[in-house]
Amino acid sequence: MGELVRTITENLARIQARIAEAAARAGRKADAVRLLGVTKYVGQRETRALFESGCTALGENRPQQLCSKAEALGDLPIEWHMIGHLQRNKVRRVVPLVAMIESIDSARLLAAVDRIAEELRRRVPVLLEINIAGEAQKHGLAPDQLRPLVETLGDYRHVEVRGLMAMASLEGGVGAARGDFTALRQLRDRAQADCPEGVTLGELSMGMSGDFEAAIEEGATIVRIGSALFERIDR
Ligand SMILES: *Cc1c(COP(=O)(O)O)cnc(C)c1O
Repeated sequence: MGELVRTITENLARIQARIAEAAARAGRKADAVRLLGVTKYVGQRETRALFESGCTALGENRPQQLCSKAEALGDLPIEWHMIGHLQRNKVRRVVPLVAMIESIDSARLLAAVDRIAEELRRRVPVLLEINIAGEAQKHGLAPDQLRPLVETLGDYRHVEVRGLMAMASLEGGVGAARGDFTALRQLRDRAQADCPEGVTLGELSMGMSGDFEAAIEEGATIVRIGSALFERIDR
């Protein structure tokens, strides 16, 4: 095994152990939480090594990076997730490459994905991104925009809305982040009641390298982890 793969495999094992412990503390099963490896800080070589270490679901926050990595690593069955702001003029390129778009941050973007998915004869799993911390520089729907959007989900037949995604506030450490995670879960629970039949907001994508254990304790089903996976590697 190469040095790079070995180091990443060790990092991954440590994180998975912490995921299992956090799940156990919350009385949840470890396999109820998926680890999404975020590869935005690294190149193709490290991304390939992460896949070889056993992390097969990967996320990028820029459409351009996602497209170039997905193409360069097209020989690997990677499950790509788009996790950052997606301009509507990039939807056509991104939709064929992804297993999920986690960052639907407006009704217009949802409509654009639905229309292009129909053209491409696909059904695209998506999450609705919520600006739960209310920070001006962050993308995402304001919490009070969720209910009116959720009530229209029956109009979209080529996207499958599976839940919510958010980034916790940057200020205030894990304590503030935990408050954001709790708020996202409660918002989801309320929005579920307004969903049309057949729509289940089962997924909560929340938690990153610095706060994923709190996110799991508050109900995360997907944790998006970047920097902790790539500790101790030489670049
Ligand atoms: C970069 C990024 C992450 C991962 O951040 P780390 O702190 O490096 O784990 C998760 N989600 C999104 C949307 C990101 O842009």
